[in-house]
Amino acid sequence: MYGDFKIFLQKELNSIKEAGLYKQERIIGSPQGAVIKLKSGDEVLNFCSNNYLGLSSHPKVIEAAQNALAERGYGMSSVRFICGTQDIHRQLEQKIAKFFGMEDTILYAAAFDANGGVFEPLMLEEDAVISDQLNHASIIDGVRLCKAQRFRYKHADMEDLEVQLKEAQKCRFRLIVTDGVFSMDGDIAKLPQICDLAEKYNSLVMVDDSHASGFIGKTGRGTHEYHKVMSRVDIISSTLGKALGGAMGGFITAKQEVVDLLRQRSRPYLFSNSLSPAIVGAALQVFNMLSETTELRDKLMWNTEYFKEKIQKLGFDIKPSQSAIVAIMLYDAKLSQDMAAQLLKEGIYVTGFYYPVVPKGEARIRVQLSAAHEKEHIDKAVSAFEKIGRNLGVIK
Ligand SMILES: *Cc1c(COP(=O)(O)O)cnc(C)c1O
Repeated sequence: MYGDFKIFLQKELNSIKEAGLYKQERIIGSPQGAVIKLKSGDEVLNFCSNNYLGLSSHPKVIEAAQNALAERGYGMSSVRFICGTQDIHRQLEQKIAKFFGMEDTILYAAAFDANGGVFEPLMLEEDAVISDQLNHASIIDGVRLCKAQRFRYKHADMEDLEVQLKEAQKCRFRLIVTDGVFSMDGDIAKLPQICDLAEKYNSLVMVDDSHASGFIGKTGRGTHEYHKVMSRVDIISSTLGKALGGAMGGFITAKQEVVDLLRQRSRPYLFSNSLSPAIVGAALQVFNMLSETTELRDKLMWNTEYFKEKIQKLGFDIKPSQSAIVAIMLYDAKLSQDMAAQLLKEGIYVTGFYYPVVPKGEARIRVQLSAAHEKEHIDKAVSAFEKIGRNLGVIK
C-alpha cells in the first residue's frame, strides 16, 4: 500500500520545494540566547527568537527548574484530574491569575492547546465567535473545533468589527477574539475600541497575549495593561514558551467560572498530560522575578527603541510597531531571502518572510529584540544592516 502513498507524498514535497516554500531547520548547538552557536561552529547574534526577556537560559530560571526536578521528579505520567496535579501546579495557576489581574488560571501543554480547547466548551451552536482575520493559527483551529457561528473581521478594522457584531446580535452570546500583538507587523490590537464595541453590542472579549505577556505594558502584564483595559478583558490566553521562560506550556487566565468549566470540559486539558514539574518550578520563578522588578522589560523596550531609531535613521522602511517586533519592509521575496542570508554571513541571524506568511508584495525581515541583547550587539546588527542594505540597494 505504501508505494502509491509514497509517490503522492514525494510529489507534495517536491511541489513545496518548487514553490520555494520548503522550510529547512537551522541546527543550533548551544543554549538559546543573544549569542548562539550554529552547527557550522559559527557564533551568531540571534535576532529571531521569542526569548524577549532573555529568560530561556537565565541562571535563576535554570536553577528553579533543577530544584523542581530534584524535589518533584521528572514527569507526572498523568492528566491533571487523575493524579497529575501537584501543589506547584495550583501555585502557578494562582500566581498567573494574580499577575494578569484575573480570577483563576488553567494550564495547558501549550498555548496552541489552550486556544484549541477554550472555544468548544464555552461557545455553543447558538453563540458567535468574532475573530480578527490575522489571528494566530491556533485560534483559527480552536474556533473550527467549536459549534458556534463564526464571524471574521478585517485586521484591526473597527468598522468591520462593528458590522460583524451587528450581524451577530441574533446569537445568544458573543465573543470577540484577537491576538494582543500581531507577530508579523508587531502592531497591538486596538483594545480600547474593541472593549467599547463589546460593551455596545454585549460581547465578551478574549485576547491571546503570547507575544506580549511579561513585557508589554508598564509592568509587563500585557496588552490589556498597555491599553488600560485590565478589567475589561474576560479571557486571556498565553504561552510560557516565549518571554516567560521559553520551555513550553500555555494557559487561559480568566473569570472563575470560565476556568472552572474549562477544567470540566476542555479536551486538550482533560486528555493530555500534566506539565512537567521542572517547567512549573521554573515558571513560578519567572513570575517571582517579573513581580519584583521591571528591569528586564525596561531593558527590552530600551533596546527596541534604540534599534528602531538607528534603523530608521539609515533609511530603512519599518512598520509602525509598539512591541518588540520590528518588520523591516523589503516588498520583494527574493530580496528578503538574500538579505537574510548575507546578514547571517555577517553574524546576524534574522528571518526573511514572504507570501504566504505575509501578504503578497509585503516581504520583509522580521527582527525580534531581547533583553538578552547588549548595546554592542544591537550596534553590530545595525552596522550589518547598513552594509548589506547598501550592497543590495535597499538604502542609499
Ligand atoms: C506562539 C503563539 C501561540 C502558540 O504558543 P505555544 O505555547 O508555542 O503553543 C499561540 N498564539 C499566539 C498568538 C502565538 O504567537
